Amino acid sequence: MSGPVGTVDAPGEPDHGVPHAPEVEVLVSREATVGGVGVRRALPRRGRRTVGAWCFADHFGPAGPPASMQVGPHPHTGLQTVTWLVAGEILHRDSLGSEQPIRPGQLNLMTAGDGVAHAEEQITRDGVVHGVQLWVALPDATRRGPAAFEHHAELPRLVLGDATATVLVGELGGHRSPARADTPLVGAELDLRRGAVAVPLDPGFEHALVVLEGAVGVGDARVEPGALAYLGTGRDELVLAAAAPARALLLGGQPFAEPVLMAWNFVGRSRDELVQAARDWNAGHDRFGTVDSPLARIPAPEPPL
Ligand code: MN
Repeated sequence: MSGPVGTVDAPGEPDHGVPHAPEVEVLVSREATVGGVGVRRALPRRGRRTVGAWCFADHFGPAGPPASMQVGPHPHTGLQTVTWLVAGEILHRDSLGSEQPIRPGQLNLMTAGDGVAHAEEQITRDGVVHGVQLWVALPDATRRGPAAFEHHAELPRLVLGDATATVLVGELGGHRSPARADTPLVGAELDLRRGAVAVPLDPGFEHALVVLEGAVGVGDARVEPGALAYLGTGRDELVLAAAAPARALLLGGQPFAEPVLMAWNFVGRSRDELVQAARDWNAGHDRFGTVDSPLARIPAPEPPL
């Protein structure tokens, strides 16, 4: 999916740092619209630009007719897109020639490297769409490398107390996702029944929780959709409580040491790189290829910062 034109959350502003447990910092998401559907942007926020290499988190929907998510061809650089649905069905098409429908419980993972383009169409226009679009910043080792696309129809699941966890990326409780990860990272969906759950964590990672449905107690904080609970590093487990069924996304990773600049749909290390990417997309440069899509191509704002 695509960030709205001109989206820059104070690039270069330092994060508040990496506090140690047991502090929980609740950051309110920013409301936006992407492809015709309302989103709650949990990352980046002022003072919290990354959690591990996770650098963007849009929680979209649930939205039903007449709203439907239709995102025309647009480019990416320097990141991976991670698409995860709670409801609905979306067709992904990209400039590598991939054409892949995705349903709830499945993972689409696109690695942009130096350049890729894709489009996303909601297939079931008369139904509800609900999910998340996440971006992972690529490290220097791969961020100028080739693009790639993966679809995972099956992911590892484990039972944790009163919850079932699905491992999207990385490892949780000894269960490892087959998805590509270029830096130490974890992403998991927690499907909570009424009750409590202790989620095992890597204490070297920083973590955050985004609630997709219901309400989840984290220590003294009650977290609901529209917020990100930042959990810091140094935790070897996370205890969550739910008074009713709830669904949340756990994001974590080794604190990302490289400076991350973001503008529009690009992640880079310098303003010049981001400006060049926007010019190249608008000039039809072959670094981004062509997407076979009935939707209109989305031009980059110039300059994108
Ligand atoms: Mn996109």
